[in-house]
Amino acid sequence: MGWECELGEKGRLRSSSSSRLVSISSRPVSSSNTRSGSNSSSRSSSNIVVVIVVVVVVVVVVVVVVVVVAVIIVVVVIAEAMFCWCADSPCKRTPVTRGNEIDNRLSKASSSFGRLYKRVWKNKNLRATTKTRVYRAVVITTLLYGSESWVLDRSHTRLLERFHQRCLRTILDVHWTNYVSNVAILEQAGLPSIEALIVKSKLRWVGHVHRMDDHRLPKIVMYSELSSGYRERGAPRKRYKDSLKRSLSACDIDVQGWSDLATDRSAWRCRIQDATTKFEEERITAANSKRLRRNNPTQSPTPHPCRHCSRICRTRIGLISHERVCRQRHGQPP
Ligand SMILES: [Zn+2]
Repeated sequence: MGWECELGEKGRLRSSSSSRLVSISSRPVSSSNTRSGSNSSSRSSSNIVVVIVVVVVVVVVVVVVVVVVAVIIVVVVIAEAMFCWCADSPCKRTPVTRGNEIDNRLSKASSSFGRLYKRVWKNKNLRATTKTRVYRAVVITTLLYGSESWVLDRSHTRLLERFHQRCLRTILDVHWTNYVSNVAILEQAGLPSIEALIVKSKLRWVGHVHRMDDHRLPKIVMYSELSSGYRERGAPRKRYKDSLKRSLSACDIDVQGWSDLATDRSAWRCRIQDATTKFEEERITAANSKRLRRNNPTQSPTPHPCRHCSRICRTRIGLISHERVCRQRHGQPP
C-alpha cells in the first residue's frame, strides 16, 4: 500500500510532464488488487524499456551503416581522383591526349576563376592590381600546370589565349562593346600573353633537365630515342624536340648551342628573361600591325582596289564580295 502510494504521489508530482504516470496514480488502490496492479505496472514499464532499447539499437545500427557507406564512398572517390586505380575511371576510359589535357586544364582554371567571381573579381573594395596578382597566383598557375612538357598547336594556343583574355576582361570590367584590343588589355593588366608564359616555363624546365645527372629519368627520356615503332603516314606529329626548337628560334636562341648556355643556371635564367621579353615585344608589334592593316586596308602589303568606286579591299575575296554589290549599285549586271 505504501509502495503504491509513493508511486501515486510520484505520479501526481510528475503529472505535468508524464501522462502515463498520472493514469497510474489516478487508478483506485485497494488492498485486494495491490499485487496484481504492481505486477501489471512493472510489466508495462519493462515493456516500455524494451521498446526504447530496441528503438535505440535500431537507430544506432542505421547511423553506423550510413556513416560506413559514406566513408567508403568518400574513400573511393578520393582514391579514384588520386590514383585512378578503378577500372571505369575516366583516365582509363579516355586516353590522355593534347586536346584532353588542354580541356582539362581549361576546366580546372575556369572552376577556380568562377569560385572567386563575387569575392574577388567583382569586389569593389579591391584594386585592379590586387585582382590581377590573385589571378596570376591562382588561375594562371592552375591553367599552366605541367605546361613545360606540352607540345602545342596553334589551335591550343588560341584556346588558352581566349580564356586568358576573357578572364582579364572580366577582372578589368571591359565589355566587348568598348572595342579594346587584346594587346591593350594585357598592357592594362600588366601581364604577358599565355604563349610567352609557356615559352618561358618550357625553356626554364629544359635548362633544369639539361643540368640533371645522366642517370635521372627525365634527362634519359629527353635525350633518348625509341628503339622500335614507326611514325604514321602524312604530316609527322610534332614532337617535344620540334616544339623546343620552335620556342628557341622564336626567342632568338641558338638551337644547336642552347645546351652550353643552359649549363650555367644564372646565365641561362637571364637569357630566358631577356628572350621572353623580346618575344613578347615582337608579338605585340606583330599584333598591332595586323590590327592596323585590318582597320586600314590601304596599309595592306597587297591592297585590292575596286574598279567601280574608290574603295580599297584588304583581301581578294573581300574585293570579289564587294564588287558583286558595287556593280548592282552602279547599275551594272552582277
Ligand atoms: Zn566598289
